[in-house]
Amino acid sequence: MSHAKNFYAGPSVLPVSVLEEIQKDMVDYKGSGLSLIETSHRSAEYGQVHKNAMNLVREIFGVPDNFKILFIGGGATLQFSMIPLNFLSGGKTCDFTLTGTWSKKAYADAKKVGNVNVVYDGKDNSYTRLPDPSTLKASPGSSYFHITSNETIGGIQWKDWPDTGDVPIICDMSSDIMSRPIPFEKFGMIYAGAQKNLGPSGFAVVIIRDDMLEKCNPNMTAFLDYKVHAEKESLYNTPPVFSIYAMSLVLEKVKAEGGLKEVEKRNKEKSKLIYDVMDKSNGFYKSPVDVSVRSDMNVVFTMANEELEKEFVAQAKAKQMVGLKGHVSVGGCRASIYNSLPLSDVVALVEFMQEFQKAKS
Ligand code: PMP
Repeated sequence: MSHAKNFYAGPSVLPVSVLEEIQKDMVDYKGSGLSLIETSHRSAEYGQVHKNAMNLVREIFGVPDNFKILFIGGGATLQFSMIPLNFLSGGKTCDFTLTGTWSKKAYADAKKVGNVNVVYDGKDNSYTRLPDPSTLKASPGSSYFHITSNETIGGIQWKDWPDTGDVPIICDMSSDIMSRPIPFEKFGMIYAGAQKNLGPSGFAVVIIRDDMLEKCNPNMTAFLDYKVHAEKESLYNTPPVFSIYAMSLVLEKVKAEGGLKEVEKRNKEKSKLIYDVMDKSNGFYKSPVDVSVRSDMNVVFTMANEELEKEFVAQAKAKQMVGLKGHVSVGGCRASIYNSLPLSDVVALVEFMQEFQKAKS
């Protein structure tokens, strides 16, 4: 079977072995006589899948006992609402770092609910740099301090975290969750849409410290209340059963391949291949991003003009490399090289980049 090399930013690459396993079990899930997607979420079969997925997240991520793992339908954008509704209502204040498109979206929603203090805004450098974390301070009495660990569109990634004292950091890890170990002692809550490193779209993984649950707005409607999801172990309502099942297969694979340290090593190796080709291209491929914060997940680059970029994307597509067009809002090119993208696909891309440069120089 031929499978294209997938550089889409999300939904994005899944391991072919996982797709094949899903295919194998699609009509008759492990001899149950039914597909898992036509089986009750209260059934023993799905119950096992759900539990297994939770256990794998706890094990692979090393989630401490004082954090709850939640699977909440709706993606990361719903979290942009749920976070302020739970932690900012009633005239409270939070801190925000504005580092690109996604943090600005989260900020816009938070501002509708409460007071938001902007601790850092990368506007002056067009969101191509990040501040030195040691220079950042939370404001006194702040309910939380929001960070976006990897800006999927801008291609910048935090490499270290600020010390915010008693103010909990809430981190949107949508586009780099499971790409490296997570130092949970630094965070009160992390969240991520599933459709990049974890699995198909349809839900967000939220990992939240117990004391944060105590601080949730007591007047939330049920679905928007983190406490309800925690108490019901993410089975308050019908969860996106297929996506959670598919994620569990991805998690199994990560576990079998050595966990997050190994994943991080591979990711660094993959991104370095592309950044090296860019750096040695005499400016043919340019990265707008400060070297110290280049993303290991979303590698953005531009060429001399839009025509050249269009041709690059078209030629790549003809070679079965898809998803290399930059986000519509910024243009240029972007190679998203998530966990499940094989090293050999990145090697194919850098070989093509070199060929293309030669042909056009
Ligand atoms: N945050 C980041 C960093 C993202 O990359 C995305 C989606 N690309 C979102 C939030 C929004 O996620 P969703 O589409 O799951 O709502």
